[in-house]
Amino acid sequence: MSDTFSGSCACGKVTFALNPQKYSVLNCHCHTCRKLNGGAFSTYVAVADEAFEIDRGGAELARYAVTENVDKFFCRICGTPMYNKNKKYQGLTIVPLGALDHPEGLKPAANIFCESKLSWVPLQDDATNHPQGLPS
Ligand SMILES: [Zn+2]
Ligand SMILES: [Zn+2]
Repeated sequence: MSDTFSGSCACGKVTFALNPQKYSVLNCHCHTCRKLNGGAFSTYVAVADEAFEIDRGGAELARYAVTENVDKFFCRICGTPMYNKNKKYQGLTIVPLGALDHPEGLKPAANIFCESKLSWVPLQDDATNHPQGLPS
């Protein structure tokens, strides 16, 4: 069994590998992530930069500056979100769980920006819940 998770966009032009030595999985319930990803909330895998590698299709990645701190990288062909970089979280690449090819083994440990959570979204019993971002 490999420790590496593979990921790809919907059209398959961009592929990446994520070595989950150091990672955390969380759900973000903020309004911006709803807009960026289209779901009621967004599940992310935060992984150390050195454990994340674009395998193919790097030239197809487009960047959108979401805020002065956050950049979103996505496939310019199919629009799939591939990863985010946040200047507040230096050294981390933040990958939407849905971009992984086999995400079943990864489960969120935390919910952030719960103050913006839609009321019908349930929270897991075994996750920590934070009204805003993770406490530093
Ligand atoms: Zn694509
Ligand atoms: Zn968010």
